[in-house]
Amino acid sequence: MSGVARYDALLRDAAVALTAAGIDNARFEARLLLAHAGGVTSEWLIAHGDEVAAPAVAEAVRALTARRIRREPMAYVLGEREFWGLPFKVSPAVLVPRPDSETLIEAALALMPGRTEPWRILDLGVGSGCLLLTLLREFPNARGIGMDVSPAALAVAEANADALGVGARVSLVGGDWQEPGWAGRLGGPFDLLVSNPPYIETSAIEGLMPDVGRFEPRLALDGGGDGLSAYRAIAGGAAGLVVPGGRVLVEAGEGQAPEISALFSLAGFAVEAPWKDLGGIDRIVAATH
Ligand code: GLN
Repeated sequence: MSGVARYDALLRDAAVALTAAGIDNARFEARLLLAHAGGVTSEWLIAHGDEVAAPAVAEAVRALTARRIRREPMAYVLGEREFWGLPFKVSPAVLVPRPDSETLIEAALALMPGRTEPWRILDLGVGSGCLLLTLLREFPNARGIGMDVSPAALAVAEANADALGVGARVSLVGGDWQEPGWAGRLGGPFDLLVSNPPYIETSAIEGLMPDVGRFEPRLALDGGGDGLSAYRAIAGGAAGLVVPGGRVLVEAGEGQAPEISALFSLAGFAVEAPWKDLGGIDRIVAATH
């Protein structure tokens, strides 16, 4: 098959291929892929479907569709995902930002009084930067440190910090909470510590949806045998990092909030009732030093 193809035909072909591969929302995704391939918006496609696409666009949309059919997450195929209404660049080096994690932002806005205070914020396992950089946008005088063990993740976070206009208020540093002395190297102290650490039990990773288990970084998912190893390390360092009266907000996997709460209680924090995500799951453990 060659020759000219109209955008509508390319859209239909992509949607048919995605449907055949068992992907939900095939037409919606097909439109996003075609828009990305053509360097246009979805709205433009709706108005201009009868126009002829350049051969390079046809080739590009087929390549993107093939990646999606192999279950690569849309966010990686498109290189971007929205979080809290902001565009975040993503790569396979970082976890895809998820709506459930927006619950942490809601909790921070509710618990940290004063939008204009110069809060010092620490994000452990900063990944794409979706938590820390969103907080820096919401708190315009805050400064942040984002730590990650992955240099490739730090590069993504740095690109996002610059694109979102908060680069001057953030430091992105390499570090591993499983190494002795990690917390002491971060400077601080901090008014707010946030983290969405890896929390999947090692044995459960193979059973995750293929989009997640095969493509998202194991470093960002694998929480050790019981899923809680990162929280143990973070709770161990938290008292030395967070000022008296300061807050900790950490994302929790389903059913993990009680155990995570116990770890922070043992570390000398007053733990509140967890914040629920939109699915009603206890998603964010909130604690005060
Ligand atoms: N929310 C992710 C999932 O359920 C896991 C993220 C994490 O381990 N922090 O797949």
